[in-house]
Amino acid sequence: MKPALKPFIIPIFIPHSGCPHQCIFCNQRAITGTSGAIPSANEIHSIVHEFLAYKRKSRSRTEVSFFGGNFLGLTPGQIHRLLNQLVSFVESKKIDGIRFSTRPDTIDEDRLNLIRPYPVSTIELGVQSMDDRVLKLSLRGHFVKDTVQAVSLLQQEKKYQIGLQMMTGLPGDNDAVCLDTARQIIALKPDFVRIYPTLVIADSPLANLYQKGKYRPQSMDECVAQLKKLYLLFQENQIDVIRMGLQASDDLDDSSTVLAGPYHPAMGHMVFSKIFLDAAAKKIREKTSPNDAVTLTVHPRNLSRMQGLNKKNIVALKQLFDIQKLNLTTDASLGSSDVVVN
Ligand code: SF4
Repeated sequence: MKPALKPFIIPIFIPHSGCPHQCIFCNQRAITGTSGAIPSANEIHSIVHEFLAYKRKSRSRTEVSFFGGNFLGLTPGQIHRLLNQLVSFVESKKIDGIRFSTRPDTIDEDRLNLIRPYPVSTIELGVQSMDDRVLKLSLRGHFVKDTVQAVSLLQQEKKYQIGLQMMTGLPGDNDAVCLDTARQIIALKPDFVRIYPTLVIADSPLANLYQKGKYRPQSMDECVAQLKKLYLLFQENQIDVIRMGLQASDDLDDSSTVLAGPYHPAMGHMVFSKIFLDAAAKKIREKTSPNDAVTLTVHPRNLSRMQGLNKKNIVALKQLFDIQKLNLTTDASLGSSDVVVN
């Protein structure tokens, strides 16, 4: 599997700032555990210094990221103020660039002119779906054509890494529609994607629908199976998936925040474990010799993925193929997606 780009990211939350309204699934204040005010200059400086103090030397690239709101939906004055706080960090080479997430319908010539003088390196768009019906049911307030146009405008700038965020399990979505979203995203040629399962977050409009029985969240198994298909599709098309599932936090671990839906702090690991489980099962099925003793070999980086959480994959394979003894070994010369079965 192609290694994902992983800069050291210093997050600055701007929950719901710049949002034209509340999307159906969203309650950033609950997710980020922050109050909602745009951080002051002092707050920004202290967050950056705090994170820089525990950055490991091995992490080459450092970016400060404005998350949790609609960055280019802020007023021009607010955008200038936030970006200006970070210019000196870039000039002194303490950070390498700035990134932010924003809605597709906020990318236009005026806003691109506004940010052009600043050292912005990465822009992430909250695409969520490439199906107008799903976007409408999710109260996004933009259309697929806005995303297509936004990506085209950003690509014309030739200076930004472009990340597209999509969601699974949105109202009106299903496996076929979700895979079609992924195919349309691939056609846009982003530099990377993030995939977020829809969760029912307290005090979001979706929580209301869920409580009335009008929304059924994905089960964990459905979600992992769908994420696996999406991941493999992006991988096949050489697009990095830099995250699957929301970043774990105390707020998300609190059941009064996530009312329902497929939340797990190690969602990405679960998806990779499923990929390795299926790859090993396929190889064992193809094996001609008896299955009394089987040895699986993977790259050392994939040992825990092959095992699965609580060695679930090992137990499953033993049961499925009636294996008495299943050994797991590593070999650093193997490729990152290889599973060798002996
Ligand atoms: S999903 Fe994005 S645009 Fe919608 S309310 Fe949340 S932060 Fe704002």
